[in-house]
Amino acid sequence: MSHDEVNIMVILSSPSGVGKTTLTKKIQQKYQSFKISVSHTTRLPRSNEVDGVDYHFVSQKKFEDLIKENKFYEYAKIFDNYYGTLKKDVDDTILKNDILFDIDWQGTKQLSKYDNLKLIKIYLITENKEELKKRLVKRNQNSIKEIAKRFNSFDDDIKHWNDYDYIIINKNLEVCFKQIESIILNNKKKSIFTQLN
Ligand code: 5GP
Repeated sequence: MSHDEVNIMVILSSPSGVGKTTLTKKIQQKYQSFKISVSHTTRLPRSNEVDGVDYHFVSQKKFEDLIKENKFYEYAKIFDNYYGTLKKDVDDTILKNDILFDIDWQGTKQLSKYDNLKLIKIYLITENKEELKKRLVKRNQNSIKEIAKRFNSFDDDIKHWNDYDYIIINKNLEVCFKQIESIILNNKKKSIFTQLN
């Protein structure tokens, strides 16, 4: 994959429930140059989710065919479902836009293997586990069993913080958003300078 140096790729990862999806949407709303990478998944849509907007919802068979055809830059099995990023989607988008990836640590590891990608990797966490539990319950998107599964994956997830360029504690959404904004703007400036030199 090669792309215009000026366009940047930002990965946001976090344990489930930290507020990543809200932040991703906020960035896209403020910065029109950013497109959120729409992943493929075998997970069922939630009531507020739209196919082709939040995810491309596909069957397990379809996803496994795409794996066999080597169509993904990265994919992972998370909470019993597949999630993955199609090569074609990224290659087409980066020609004209910056890209925001809302993916987990496994996907981040796989994307990092592509030396030619200028990735900015940000990891978000809550200040502690209790706060995460509160948010998972409050957002009311999952059954008790699903909440427990997500909460219990926290310890394993945060082991991978070291693979990221920036770690941000999402204690306050607005503060956290400003921190992400400043990382993005600095890297965008750097990327423009690189191209000019
Ligand atoms: P959810 O089911 O809550 O939408 O997402 C569960 C987890 O899957 C989140 O941590 C999200 O970042 C991750 N995820 C979403 N899309 C992808 C993807 O394409 N690849 C990988 N590796 N993770 C993804």
